[in-house]
Amino acid sequence: DRLVTAAADGEDQAVEAALRPKQLDEFIGQERVREQLSLVLQAARRRGTAPDHVLLSGPPGLGKTTLSMIIAAELGAPIRITSGPAIQHAGDLAAILSSLTEGEVLFLDEIHRMSRPAEEMLYMAMEDFRVDVIVGKGPGATAIPLELPPFTLVGATTRAGLLPPPLRDRFGFTGHMEFYAPAELQRVVHRSAALLDVEIDPAGAAEIAGRSRGTPRIANRLLRRVRDYAQVRHDGQVTREIAAQALQVYEVDARGLDRLDRAVLDALLRLFGGGPVGLSTLAVAVGEESETVEEVAEPFLVREGLLARTPRGRIATAAAWQHLGLTPPVQAAG
Ligand code: ADP
Repeated sequence: DRLVTAAADGEDQAVEAALRPKQLDEFIGQERVREQLSLVLQAARRRGTAPDHVLLSGPPGLGKTTLSMIIAAELGAPIRITSGPAIQHAGDLAAILSSLTEGEVLFLDEIHRMSRPAEEMLYMAMEDFRVDVIVGKGPGATAIPLELPPFTLVGATTRAGLLPPPLRDRFGFTGHMEFYAPAELQRVVHRSAALLDVEIDPAGAAEIAGRSRGTPRIANRLLRRVRDYAQVRHDGQVTREIAAQALQVYEVDARGLDRLDRAVLDALLRLFGGGPVGLSTLAVAVGEESETVEEVAEPFLVREGLLARTPRGRIATAAAWQHLGLTPPVQAAG
């Protein structure tokens, strides 16, 4: 239920389909991945063959699903969408693979969360377009080889490092998705506003972009909340002021920190003088579980250079004091 989480919620899923760019040249930012992918796709089209399998790695909300749909669209191929956690048994994967049509794109989200036997089946399918379907159990079990039509796997993972090397090696191309620059996010906000029929000026779009943590999904979500505010409290137009007021209501600050992030920083600074302080002590001080502080709040604070994890505990940086408008204690000389 956090406004600034990068994971998709129910509302996102309903609206995102309408906001997804449909072609590569509509896709904003990620210049390197876009250029590399464009070459892979054009070459495949010229040769008239299915392109190499593609791995997209990067944090949630940066456009991996969107890119997989664009790949299919650019190839003029249908797409099947599934995810690692949905494939618990090798049989689940065999059922999907054996129903693919020639040239189809298979998008496998969170590919690092597939079960081991399914993963091994996938190796063979990717390399030889073949699977062995096991029929029966125990000593009487037999493997029936099954030919597959050539297809293109697009795998997505938040952590390419978690993939077993044999799986990683079977992708011809890996695209590393980066967090978006503010100017790119501003373009994302403008584009989405146009699709949602929201009037927004450049400063309003920049204000939302700056609070979106480098993530288009968050930018689109903040835009929807700002739109609500603009329509209910004002005439619907989004300016810098309206955007800032709206996001203040939702407790998303100028840098994209929310209530929890600020509570953690605030405790670290005010109660512990900027640290070092142990994770569990810090968690008790904000009334949260250690895991919540560590997994939900800290990654962004670390990324923003506001908090550092050291062997002696958590410490605040100079930027943290500045961000909360506090003065760091003067270090005793000597
Ligand atoms: P992921 O699969 O990496 O979690 P998605 O592809 O689902 O991310 O993207 C989340 C949302 O952000 C989608 O609604 C999509 O429209 C938007 N989005 C992502 N990347 C871009 C981009 N480069 N340009 C425009 N919109 C984008």
